Amino acid sequence: MSIKANLQEVLAGITKDVTLVAVSKFHPNESIMEAYEAGQRIFGESKVQEMAQKYETLPKDIEWHFIGHLQSNKIKYMAPYVTMIHAIDSLSLLKEIDKHAKKVNRTISCLLQIHIAKEETKFGFSFDECRTMLNEEEWKKLDNIRICGVMGMATNCDDQKEIREEFNSLHTFFKEIKEEYFKDEESFKEISMGMSGDYEIAIEEGSTMVRVGSKIFGERIY
Ligand SMILES: *Cc1c(COP(=O)(O)O)cnc(C)c1O
Repeated sequence: MSIKANLQEVLAGITKDVTLVAVSKFHPNESIMEAYEAGQRIFGESKVQEMAQKYETLPKDIEWHFIGHLQSNKIKYMAPYVTMIHAIDSLSLLKEIDKHAKKVNRTISCLLQIHIAKEETKFGFSFDECRTMLNEEEWKKLDNIRICGVMGMATNCDDQKEIREEFNSLHTFFKEIKEEYFKDEESFKEISMGMSGDYEIAIEEGSTMVRVGSKIFGERIY
């Protein structure tokens, strides 16, 4: 199957109001261009330098989403162009992004990563850590970031019921904090959840943004 055919298959299976982030990490520019020529404009990357090289060489109407774990010393390299940062798991990261966004006169969209999986290894706020951060209100003073919603990853397993419950818990948490802290914020609307193996379940559980890589581009070679 070609990248174009894979992309069309994924798009056919998601509803119109769900945004597809095509995760192109570790794949070359030629692969991205195949998806681009088939109409895809939003791509996700997880390495700062790799994303920068792709940004510099590929068409400028591509929206770059950073989906990887973020180190604060690398934010300055993406601040001039990144559209959305998915995996924020501390107030200090929000502050750093705000600082660098200010320098380049931009407002950067951010998602709060919530740990919903059983695995220890996945990053993210616990529900309580996230509530604590939002209660402290310091984030409200950050004018150059926009908190647009939440992001999460389900446990990497075959248990569909478990995966569904985890996605459901993120949706429930989204509604809770929307009501509590972002009631009048129209831009707080995204639930970024679902990857190649579980995006159909994620959409059934309320995902607004899926991050699909290998199903479009094939297996990654690390
Ligand atoms: C790699 C990655 C994806 C895409 O994974 P696939 O299984 O290839 O679709 C999605 N989200 C994050 C955070 C990733 O790191």
